[in-house]
Amino acid sequence: MLEALLTASPEAIIVLDDASHVTLFNDGAKEMFGYKSSEVVGQLVDVILPDSIGDLRWTSPLPPLLSGVNEMEVPLSQLALFGQRADGEIFSVDASVASASLPPSRGFMIVVRDPATSPRSEGKLRECEECFRIAFESETIAFAIAELSGRLRAVNRSLCNLLGYTVPELLELSFQAITHPEDLFKDVSYVRSLIKGEMDRYLLEKRYLHKQGHTVWALLSVSMVRDRWGAPLYFVAHATDITSLKNAQRALEEHAAELERSNAELEHFAAVASHDLQEPLRTVSSYTQLLSERYGGQLDERADRWIDYVVGGVDHMKRMIDGLLSLARVRTDGEEFQPVDTEAIVDRLWTRLRAQPNAQEAHLSLGSLPVLAADASQIEQLFQNLLSNAIRYRRFDVPLRVEISVSRDLGSNGEWEFTVADNGIGIDMMHATRIFEIFQRVARDVDRTGAGIGLAVCDRIVRRHGGRIWVDSAPGHGARFRFTLVDRSS
Ligand code: ADP
Repeated sequence: MLEALLTASPEAIIVLDDASHVTLFNDGAKEMFGYKSSEVVGQLVDVILPDSIGDLRWTSPLPPLLSGVNEMEVPLSQLALFGQRADGEIFSVDASVASASLPPSRGFMIVVRDPATSPRSEGKLRECEECFRIAFESETIAFAIAELSGRLRAVNRSLCNLLGYTVPELLELSFQAITHPEDLFKDVSYVRSLIKGEMDRYLLEKRYLHKQGHTVWALLSVSMVRDRWGAPLYFVAHATDITSLKNAQRALEEHAAELERSNAELEHFAAVASHDLQEPLRTVSSYTQLLSERYGGQLDERADRWIDYVVGGVDHMKRMIDGLLSLARVRTDGEEFQPVDTEAIVDRLWTRLRAQPNAQEAHLSLGSLPVLAADASQIEQLFQNLLSNAIRYRRFDVPLRVEISVSRDLGSNGEWEFTVADNGIGIDMMHATRIFEIFQRVARDVDRTGAGIGLAVCDRIVRRHGGRIWVDSAPGHGARFRFTLVDRSS
């Protein structure tokens, strides 16, 4: 009675004895495997459920399960196995295996399902297909499926729009035909690695050829679809149009290169001009000096005034040219970074500066300063400009006090932050940015002559050392110049 019921079941049911011989091969199994019952009954189960195919083995082995002698050792199990039909076709099956006692012998019953035709997987498949269809019809992402030869097998409208072809036209082409020749080698090498299984997918910025001949930039992502045994079937590719991004990037690069070039040209011009101007200026300077010494007081009072103007103007021009040269040299004559003892530099400088008649009352309070990797002569120039300014912009009614200190912010690249503070005339913060620009002077009284370049040089030196410089001040309350230096040795 039970046997008749099992035989007629539309489910594929196979019953085995405890030596794995088939004892019952029902109608459902005949339908699934294409064998007559008499061809299978009495045979080992391997005929229809081989335990390996080539190098591939079952993910969940059946034989060890069947070798369990005690019924209790074989609970109901769900296995993923290979099936083999009478015509030799291999297919994957889901099998439910349980102990079964069918008189006269004790054995096992296996219910086999083909996952590809089960209603549940059909539903899942439909859902997947629907998801894929929606993704494939994307308005913005170009999709293509290509055969291993590169021939396009399916393309979406977005790819057609990107490349200017119709769907039938693209299906006549291969991905090689629509790839820019200069990007083909890279693309094909990636494809080979994909086929060999060396990578799961690749990302590539590449150029396509539009039907009308121009280039289209795309960010391409390609994956490989394989069969259940891992053999490559076809490629699924999706591409996003990045042409405008690439154009903008190229324009930016060109602009930056052009800027760099004209900047270098300008600097070269400034360096050459200021260097070459020095010679005639020296002549003008020495002869006006001579004129003033020899003929001062011999002409009338007006002539003396004019000679003074000429001497003053030449002097100013000389300072400006010297300043321009030192500004250009920050870039052109930069030296390699080496350990620099900033405290020793400041010490030496201060001794020199204090010897000036206008600085003899000055007092320096110097904290302990670090040794760091930098351009020694530029660091000296930086402190020289700041300390000279502290002296130049001192108040005449109180002795000058300068304080130099340093702190280290380990959080941001281990930068050192230096402060050079004075008790001088100070500066209105509305000029705080402008004073670091070339030829920008604020204090204009005759006792404080300058060329308006010292702080521009400081700014350039600090930037060459990966830092920045700024000022905190108020008129009459001194100035605190702060700058950071990145220590490249740590
Ligand atoms: P210069 O001193 O030759 O004018 P700088 O570039 O060194 O050129 O300085 C620019 C301006 O910044 C100065 O004209 C001055 O007004 C202001 N300045 C610089 N250092 C100080 C300071 N320590 N105290 C007050 N003002 C200062």
